Amino acid sequence: MFRKILIANRGEIACRVMATARRLGVQTVAVFSDADANAKHTAMADEAVHIGAAAAAESYLNGARIIEAARQTGAEAIHPGYGFLSENPGFVEAVEDAGLVFIGPPASAIRAMGLKDAAKALMETAGVPVVPGYHGESQDPDLLAAEAENIGYPVLIKARAGGGGKGMRLVEGPSDFKAALAGAQREGQASFGDPACLVEKFIPKPRHIEIQVFGDKHGAAIHLFERDCSLQRRHQKVIEEAPAPDMPDEVRAAMGQAAVEAAKAIGYHGAGTVEFIVDGSGPLRADGFWFMEMNTRLQVEHPVTEAVTGLDLVELQLRVASGEPLGIAQDDLSINGWAFEARVYAEDASKGFLPATGTLDHLAFPQGAAFAQATTRIDSGVRPGDEISPWYDPMIAKVITHGPTRSAALNKLRGALGDCHVAGCVTNLEFLGALSRHDGFARGEVDTGLIARDIDALTDRPAPSEPVVAAAAVGALGLLQEQQGSDPWSLLLGWRHWTDAYQFVDLQLGETRLSRRITALDGGSSTVRKYRVDCGDGSLEIAIAHAGDDRYRLETDGKRLTLALVFAPNQVSVFTDGRSFTFDLPNALAGTEQGAGGGDTVVAPMPGLIKVVSAATGDNVDRGDALIVIEAMKMEHTLTAPRNGVVEEVLASVGDQVTDGALLLRLAPEDD
Ligand code: ADP
Repeated sequence: MFRKILIANRGEIACRVMATARRLGVQTVAVFSDADANAKHTAMADEAVHIGAAAAAESYLNGARIIEAARQTGAEAIHPGYGFLSENPGFVEAVEDAGLVFIGPPASAIRAMGLKDAAKALMETAGVPVVPGYHGESQDPDLLAAEAENIGYPVLIKARAGGGGKGMRLVEGPSDFKAALAGAQREGQASFGDPACLVEKFIPKPRHIEIQVFGDKHGAAIHLFERDCSLQRRHQKVIEEAPAPDMPDEVRAAMGQAAVEAAKAIGYHGAGTVEFIVDGSGPLRADGFWFMEMNTRLQVEHPVTEAVTGLDLVELQLRVASGEPLGIAQDDLSINGWAFEARVYAEDASKGFLPATGTLDHLAFPQGAAFAQATTRIDSGVRPGDEISPWYDPMIAKVITHGPTRSAALNKLRGALGDCHVAGCVTNLEFLGALSRHDGFARGEVDTGLIARDIDALTDRPAPSEPVVAAAAVGALGLLQEQQGSDPWSLLLGWRHWTDAYQFVDLQLGETRLSRRITALDGGSSTVRKYRVDCGDGSLEIAIAHAGDDRYRLETDGKRLTLALVFAPNQVSVFTDGRSFTFDLPNALAGTEQGAGGGDTVVAPMPGLIKVVSAATGDNVDRGDALIVIEAMKMEHTLTAPRNGVVEEVLASVGDQVTDGALLLRLAPEDD
């Protein structure tokens, strides 16, 4: 085993690798950029080396600098995590040329699987089923369009260098083909420096099922069963599980076998994942799965496999990389129970899931969650007070649950998501919570279109109930904070003084202004306070008691509610029943009128680069027409006309770098 390793990554995966290294007595070296000088992974390592500026190209993608850091600190091996340099064969060779060990597969295996077109051709020869399609050299749009006709619509265009769902377009018919091809090529170029695309048959009602494989340096290869990653939004995984629902043993065996063959065909060692697209229109069949691609690294969703196999995949990676034989035969493995993983991101579901930034003023995870050996596991690279910056992936945490059955594990996931409390930053937690309660998902009826079909219901945000508003209003007046840990007698006195008066409080929830009048009522005690909360057309009497930390019990009209209240300057957040509401206090809003958002304008929803402007002054447009494409975080977002009208002014041009809220286009005022 190694004595010291360097982790060429950041965030949760860097922390996760370090946790195993520490358990094995292996010393760790972190690398960090300017933006991560105080990051969790930097603090967690035994040593940390600064490698450059915040932009990934100048730090986490700077292979030479990272290798130098390893040399400088005496690390013997480099773990790449996922993303960044993890699938870069040139980096693997440079690491090896420097006399260090790359904790991952050989460069040749990464190269073989690096481009989707070459990988498909190779797998075809190895006898692994691949999705029918065109994966030749030509990029002539006419030829590709003709191939699409041959394949038969709908087809999927994929950037051959793509990953993470980038550079991919579903095309329903010939009239959309060329525009979609151009978009996929642009995204391929922007994200991967390679515009080339392949075209393949779009499998209807597809499921994404992948097989975890492991090989050692002595020629052994096994699989660690499957993960179902069908819950996706725009081809990106949202919730993963292991095993796959309704997986017949013979299909599992056939997929496992195909994956092991794929690994053997390229002389694989280390952790890898063979992804298959599966026909989910009926029961799973041994002739109903096709190779999509192989990810030659540890995957984000590896913890669900760890949960059901009881193996630590990072430990196996370290052992295999240091030359030890796997020491596990296929027959030694079995699946124990069921596991889920949900990816918690700083992103705004109400703005089309745009990545968000902000400071994690409050961050609390389920009690008792632990890294391993727990039925609820949280893998996170951030701590309370940390910032989600625009520089990197806005992941906050992975929530992993394990139970004896699928429904037990899913129940645990619902509870765990409800116990993740974040304030200061928009998150997808409510969306994940809604998804975890989705009936079809609960029945195991998953396919990659599920989220898109039900997106409205999944992102619906019903207004808060009156008791929630009442609790926020009372909290906003500072009446609850002082309840946490002050001397009850002085409190009681202060409270008595106040009984015969009332106070008004204004709360702002999104666009809605909520005004309440609060009156303290008699009959309370130092621990239970009673108030009447009036709004224009009704009133509510509540009794509220502190229940430890940020939790409160509220009783009204015979009903009981448990809430968590979190206070930030000029904000109160209420968490209850898997939902959260952040109320702004009006003085926080003074002077920050949102100029944007009217029916006449198109504004940038976040900082980004203008890629396409398809409207000109004088154009007649219909509500919903695509007008501008903005690229942010290497993803394209299409901005549409807010209403029918005539374009009065276009303020953005292709190539402009625009700021959040920048005015991009204005429609002529409507005639009355
Ligand atoms: P990436 O490398 O960008 O993740 P993949 O090739 O792995 O791209 O595909 C990502 C997702 O896109 C899959 O999980 C699946 O949901 C969908 N997908 C890919 N290929 C097909 C196909 N031929 N038919 C239907 N859906 C597909």
